[in-house]
Amino acid sequence: MTIENFRILDNHFHLRTDGLYLDAVKAFKKAGGDIINLVNLPDYTIPTSEYYEHIYERTLKMAEFIRTNSEVKVMVTLGPYPLDYFYFRQASVNPVKKMADGIMLLEKYAEDKTICAIGEIGRPHFDVDPKVREESNQILLRGLHLAADYHIPAILHTEDLDEAALFELQVMGNKSGISPHMIIKHHATVSNLMSESALSMSVLATRPNLRGSIETGKSFLLETDYVDDPLKPGKVIAPDSVPKRALMIRGEYTNYEKIMSDVFLKLPSKIYGKELFEI
Ligand SMILES: [Zn+2]
Repeated sequence: MTIENFRILDNHFHLRTDGLYLDAVKAFKKAGGDIINLVNLPDYTIPTSEYYEHIYERTLKMAEFIRTNSEVKVMVTLGPYPLDYFYFRQASVNPVKKMADGIMLLEKYAEDKTICAIGEIGRPHFDVDPKVREESNQILLRGLHLAADYHIPAILHTEDLDEAALFELQVMGNKSGISPHMIIKHHATVSNLMSESALSMSVLATRPNLRGSIETGKSFLLETDYVDDPLKPGKVIAPDSVPKRALMIRGEYTNYEKIMSDVFLKLPSKIYGKELFEI
């Protein structure tokens, strides 16, 4: 099923086998969704040794399970989550080395196109001391290099970005050789869209965000950042929010075809390649 002949992509989706799991994906599908970008979730019950091996394999298994048991297409994004830093530091493991190793492990997956992006990488979303920020930036830069080498996008998890920080990230991208549009700010704000930044913006699919984003006239992706956490059911927006916003575009905007084409075809194709999005 598609909506108006567009493949409806949720650009940031997490799953847990002890969460709603397949049911969350079915709700997405039922509302008209077609593709999820499945991003690995941290799990600090996993020992630090072989941490990324476990996290990555678990996520790939879930992707396979969803593909087999639903009609939803699954793209996979893997990478060291910025808050992993604290987990390793607390365990007296060198975070920079460990997370850099986690990035290196991605080479094989990028090479054989098992992953569509590296992410979510970046910096903690709250204030941290200068050392943590500096070291997080080192890890981020490594991630951007990998993305540039394999021509895949990098999905950023960061603090809220002002114009200066957006520029700083674009400069980091230039250093690594990645095109700015291949850097995707996850949890982007409407004001990010209004900036001059050439980074791609992925916006949380709430009604006000959708309206505000459309008003900017810029292109953007939509995401739920669904976390599938049974203990925090109300923490995030529902897994079927993106297809519901697609229906909202169709219902509320006379130029809905252009908007839907920008959100669900042109920008995703530019970033991930057109194979999944062209019908
Ligand atoms: Zn996330």
